[in-house]
Amino acid sequence: MSAQPVQFAKIVSMPFDENTFIIWRPGRNDCVVIDPGMQPSAIVAALAERQLSPSAILCTHGHVDHIAGNGPLKAKWPACPLVIGKGDAHKLLDPMANLSGLYGFDFTSPPADQVLAEGEVYEAAGLEFRVIDTPGHSAGHVTFLLTEGDQTHCISGDVIFQGSVGRTDFPDGDFEALREAIHSKIFRLPESTIIYPGHGPTTTVGAEKKGNPFVGAPAGYVVA
Ligand SMILES: [Zn+2]
Repeated sequence: MSAQPVQFAKIVSMPFDENTFIIWRPGRNDCVVIDPGMQPSAIVAALAERQLSPSAILCTHGHVDHIAGNGPLKAKWPACPLVIGKGDAHKLLDPMANLSGLYGFDFTSPPADQVLAEGEVYEAAGLEFRVIDTPGHSAGHVTFLLTEGDQTHCISGDVIFQGSVGRTDFPDGDFEALREAIHSKIFRLPESTIIYPGHGPTTTVGAEKKGNPFVGAPAGYVVA
């Protein structure tokens, strides 16, 4: 294991302030890109600046603001696999399901090269991501967990944000499912776990347990 901690870079795409994360091990030239957003040229520039090439594109879910960069990245790195949870793979190819149709433009992504299910471990660029199902915002939403020593990193897409949670008013949204996924999975991670959400700043499991008004102590959650 590398002595230096794993590195994260965040690229924010307009107009939805969507976070793309580039994750890599210091000293290596390969990386993983999670949720390529609507400004892929900024993602490509961030990769070039760090002399990194993606060896996998991971998507937490199939909404357009999280998948819009898939095509441009696949065009530049055709051998790089596109990977998403099995329950959201169809959204890549369906403008109504990926919500682009609702916003008045029909967008489709390249298809998934591989789909993931709860409990699987996906390995790329010397990194191991544990996959957990976290439905509620999108039925096939997955969250990626990366543990290095005693630090866990949780790349949570649109499940939980600093002081908020993902919208559940889309056709396959379900607030009860979202709350259950957060309580039974995310909140059972160590309090020091860093949450990298799909929108807004990073936070921690401990901070959201104590302060999140939708799923934390203010909403009746009993902090263990
Ligand atoms: Zn979403």
